[in-house]
Amino acid sequence: MTDVRTRFAPSPTGYLHVGGIRTAVFAWLVARQGRGQFVLRLEDTDKKREVVGSDAHLMKSLRALGLDYDEGPDIGGPYAPYRQSERLATYKPWVQKLLDSGRAYADPYTAEEVQAFREQAQKNKQPFLYRNHRPQNPPAWNGSQALRFKSEPKAYKWHDAIMGDLSVGPETIDDFILMKSDGYPTYNFAHIIDDEEMKISHIIRGQEFIASVPNYLNLYEALELTPPVMATAPHVLGPDGKKKLSKRDGAKDVLDYIRDGYLPEALVNFIASLGWNDGSEQEIFTIDELIAKFSLDRVQRSGAHFDERRLAWMNGYYIRQLDLSDLFEKVRNYWPTEAQDYDDEYKKRVLGLVQERLKYFSELPELTLFFFKDLPPDPKLISEHKQLKKMNSEDLKALLEQAKAVLEESDFSLEDLTDRLNKLLEATSQKPAVLFSLIRIATTQAAASPGLAETMAVLGKTRILKRLDQMLNSL
Ligand code: GLU
Repeated sequence: MTDVRTRFAPSPTGYLHVGGIRTAVFAWLVARQGRGQFVLRLEDTDKKREVVGSDAHLMKSLRALGLDYDEGPDIGGPYAPYRQSERLATYKPWVQKLLDSGRAYADPYTAEEVQAFREQAQKNKQPFLYRNHRPQNPPAWNGSQALRFKSEPKAYKWHDAIMGDLSVGPETIDDFILMKSDGYPTYNFAHIIDDEEMKISHIIRGQEFIASVPNYLNLYEALELTPPVMATAPHVLGPDGKKKLSKRDGAKDVLDYIRDGYLPEALVNFIASLGWNDGSEQEIFTIDELIAKFSLDRVQRSGAHFDERRLAWMNGYYIRQLDLSDLFEKVRNYWPTEAQDYDDEYKKRVLGLVQERLKYFSELPELTLFFFKDLPPDPKLISEHKQLKKMNSEDLKALLEQAKAVLEESDFSLEDLTDRLNKLLEATSQKPAVLFSLIRIATTQAAASPGLAETMAVLGKTRILKRLDQMLNSL
């Protein structure tokens, strides 16, 4: 068996949203499972589309997710360089091989002439094929014209590790550009040479390339090369399940998710499960489980749905598994500013209360502000509450007065608070949804909070009584 070597080969043309990095996750998993290598190669031969800094951003994103690569532009490796723009010398002998065998020729046409052919084909309602206009006597190639592949149209059958057995007729095979007039190779040519030179065993890439595979197969033959295993990952679709996922669907840059306090393990778990499962109902996979269980043939062939709520749910699950001191370290920079006046002990108690509900770290200020700051009473929380809005302010006040009287006697230990709240429930014959909601709103200015007794124990007697008074005054 050949050694497993997979690659992620992005073009540095901008940010990398979570859908775009999925092929990297798949390729990394295949490499780690096969105890092989995962290679990062930057495909930067389209200078017009290049975005300055996006190469560094890409590398940072991979590292942030823990997708360590064994060879790459910034760490080198046995097949360096790993940037296509620095590999021009590598492509030369392969170009020569095609020229020598008569399988490449200089493109004599101007862009306008090619466009005219295309329009003519459109008018005749025929697909445009460059090879129908192949020049009889092309000029010698001097490096400043585009160089085209001289294809040999034929039908192809091939196996895709995800899409299964595929076949097409000869009509899709055409003379595509190998080298552009600016001296850089096209993706279509360069990736084939690089995958060969870098001994890549599996090409795992997005669906946008599948229509070109027959052309690639034609070129592999002309070069007398055996193609690697090919695996085509279907598009990641937006939440509506129709269009390809885009930034507009809320798919953020990987580093934005990290900044918002998503855990790398959760992100990798989520991304790997975009269109993949192990055949069971299991949704949470540790990285080691993913490495052991991932397989290309269980990647679904139809588009995968991106659902950010599922990502948040998954992240919340991972957050709940952390022990409190570990979580405390991780959220150090996420507290609301008001928390700076409080010691670690208090913050840890607060964190312990919200850990259950925290879905990502940047939610922390919203969930915890009332632990650090006295907020003005908000009557809307009552007027919008399903049950409380039906009650008049006299009754509300009476309930709050009763609560206050009982709480004034409490030592604010959790046991005592729990006990007193339960007794109050009996004494007032109210439903918890009424009584506890009212006290919660009065003491936290929030419609939802961690357990009421727990929250009050952390906030302490002085604060709770003060807030009850404020609410009483505002009713
Ligand atoms: N450079 C191509 C892209 O960024 C990579 C395709 C491939 O993996 O071969 O879409």
